[in-house]
Amino acid sequence: MDYQAFYRRSIDDPESFWGDQAELIDWHKPPQKILDQSNPPFRKWFVGGETNLCYNAVDRHLATRAEQPALIYLSSETGEEKQYTYAELHREVNRCAAIMRSLGVKQGERVVIYMPMIAEAIFCMLACARLGAVHSVVFGGFAAHNLALRIDDAKPCLLICADAGMRGGKAVPYKHLVDDAIKEAKFPPPKVLIVDRGLDPDMHWQDGRDVDYWDARDDFRDAEVPVTWLEANEPSYILYTSGTTGKPKGVQRDVGGYAVALASTMKYVYNANPGEAMFTTSDIGWVVGHSYIVYGPLLHGMTTIVYEGLPTKPDAGIWWKIVQDHKVTTMFSSPTAVRVLKKQDPAWLKKYDLSSLRYLFLAGEPLDETTSRWISDGLGVPVLDHYWQTETGWAMLSYLPGVELKPNRFGSPGFPAYGFNIRIVNDLTGEVCGPNEKGVLTVVPPLPPGCLSTVWGDDNRYVNSYFGQFEKQLLYSSSDWALRDADGYTFILGRTDDVINTAGHRLGTREIEEALQAHPAIAEVAVVGLHDEVKGQVPVGFCTVKDPALIADAAGREALEKSCIAKVAELLGAVAKPYKLHFVTALPKTRSGKLLRRSIQALAEGRETGDLSTLDDPNALEEIRKAVGR
Ligand code: ATP
Ligand code: MG
Repeated sequence: MDYQAFYRRSIDDPESFWGDQAELIDWHKPPQKILDQSNPPFRKWFVGGETNLCYNAVDRHLATRAEQPALIYLSSETGEEKQYTYAELHREVNRCAAIMRSLGVKQGERVVIYMPMIAEAIFCMLACARLGAVHSVVFGGFAAHNLALRIDDAKPCLLICADAGMRGGKAVPYKHLVDDAIKEAKFPPPKVLIVDRGLDPDMHWQDGRDVDYWDARDDFRDAEVPVTWLEANEPSYILYTSGTTGKPKGVQRDVGGYAVALASTMKYVYNANPGEAMFTTSDIGWVVGHSYIVYGPLLHGMTTIVYEGLPTKPDAGIWWKIVQDHKVTTMFSSPTAVRVLKKQDPAWLKKYDLSSLRYLFLAGEPLDETTSRWISDGLGVPVLDHYWQTETGWAMLSYLPGVELKPNRFGSPGFPAYGFNIRIVNDLTGEVCGPNEKGVLTVVPPLPPGCLSTVWGDDNRYVNSYFGQFEKQLLYSSSDWALRDADGYTFILGRTDDVINTAGHRLGTREIEEALQAHPAIAEVAVVGLHDEVKGQVPVGFCTVKDPALIADAAGREALEKSCIAKVAELLGAVAKPYKLHFVTALPKTRSGKLLRRSIQALAEGRETGDLSTLDDPNALEEIRKAVGR
């Protein structure tokens, strides 16, 4: 297919384009109107159509794929391995829906899911969808306070959790965090459903509130729960953004638009086929998990691989062994995870038979050229970066191998995806930028199907946070810098709050980070701008190295710092030279693997670090504190 023609049609004639895509899913009642734009920036897709996500992900495959594996669960933490065919998945989801119904869950009610990566978590999500209830999955790594905030925002009638998760061989108790969160919450759920994995012998059960999943499941052995048909614009779920730049926003998603958008991406963005296996290494607590561990592959009749564990345990070959054993064709991971693997022996990438693998997709953070080359050379398969946000639910920029695969250009996540009328504009005037000119990446409304409908319970926040940046025109702002080169490849240059103003130059942290990444000794890097009396701001870098021996003593650190700074000067010019580089063993990241530049900067300047609720490893921040002498 010709990308230009395909893309143009999606923008010039969205009703006919998306009307065609709507046929990728089953409707109980077909849409009456494809697009309603009467109240911008809100928009409604597939108005009057009635459908159900669970029906489309599970029931409709029973006729042709009942015996095909739908979900393969693998835990390198507990050693558990389990397969569920579509027929078995259907049964489990029905039992789970029956349990929830017995606990009072109805259409429109919220259910908070706070769980590790276990198959039951996915049964619960699908069961919510079946009942028309709105799930709000909270990442299992969040502490009690974060959970309490999300409980109060969603006001659930039920919370579902496990006794514990496992990370690096250690049990991480969840249930007592739930108890603490419920104590703190103003709107505690009346019931708590617990999937007891037997990992926490000290777990406390509260009479009258806590319900044992396994007991209840026995009670509903052959239960069948009818699908609740929902108008396409009813809410399907709430999911909070990662909180990299401040207070997380509760992204609200619809039913019909999301189903159609995801089904279309399985063809055009991922070029995947029903019956094949998809392995997405994210977590159900993130948007990538919602879209490409749970709904996308199942809507498409694929087998989804659900993996609990680290990429390096029992060894750094575990992912590739999974690809080999389950003939994965489509894999989706993040640059952060690849950088973790980069510290390991590259021989692991060659140990297993990866002939089934068609593409490795990456998203979530800028993919620097060095990392991209390392993984694509190592695996010998195309590595395709794509760019999106929790808000959009699917890729805004992509190579679209299912439409027309253009040659990869390192550092670029590709071209605007169909449906996204992307415009790169000057951040102050809103005027369209020319080729290679840096601006803010925006989308001309309407946002395509699958993108957020609003911020949960806060329409004003939806309008103001996303559409309020430009006075003269209504544009969705991504809050990311971007540029488009003369051939149409788009590059993401970091977040709009990650800019350094030095001696009158505006430098993106991303560019300096990219240059440092090109140094062979460097594994990961964060660059922030620190206040300077003379220059306004100076760039300071924090780096981790592949071989710790290099920085074992002061002389080694000094030599490495010099050669790294020389590398930046060589690639970007003297103006971008970091003022100082600190070598640390870990960088502070959110639980979703994004660098917390904002907190590093605040700490280094002696200000309050702000909301650290999403911080993955507190030691990493401690190290920065020591490095900068605070
Ligand atoms: P919050 O909005 O709460 O601060 P967040 O933006 O980190 O959190 P997500 O929606 O998980 O939450 O992340 C989306 C952001 O991740 C994008 O806006 C962009 O900054 C970055 N990103 C995602 N994919 C890519 C990519 N392929 N290349 C560069 N950056 C990316
Ligand atoms: Mg964001």
